[in-house]
Amino acid sequence: MRDLEHWRRKNRRRRLDLARVASEPYTLVEIAERDGFCCQICRDPVDMKLVWPKLWAPTIDHVVPVVAGGDDTPANVQLAHFVCNSRKGGRLELAS
Ligand SMILES: [Zn+2]
Repeated sequence: MRDLEHWRRKNRRRRLDLARVASEPYTLVEIAERDGFCCQICRDPVDMKLVWPKLWAPTIDHVVPVVAGGDDTPANVQLAHFVCNSRKGGRLELAS
């Protein structure tokens, strides 16, 4: 599990360096609380006890994808199920 966390952080940092987007710190829990623990894509509740890669695990979805110039800030992210996030067609944003 520690290896996975390490990979996720490393991957995220490298991607943001390349994109050079605005970035503000946030956590998955903060975003989940703000969004009422409901997926902002399908509007169903999200079980915060589930852990990626379970399909219904909570993930961070960028409203405007980082690759499209979206910021990595609380204003541009929302809570989404892993499966909903994947279905959107954009790239998967792993929560840190
Ligand atoms: Zn959903």
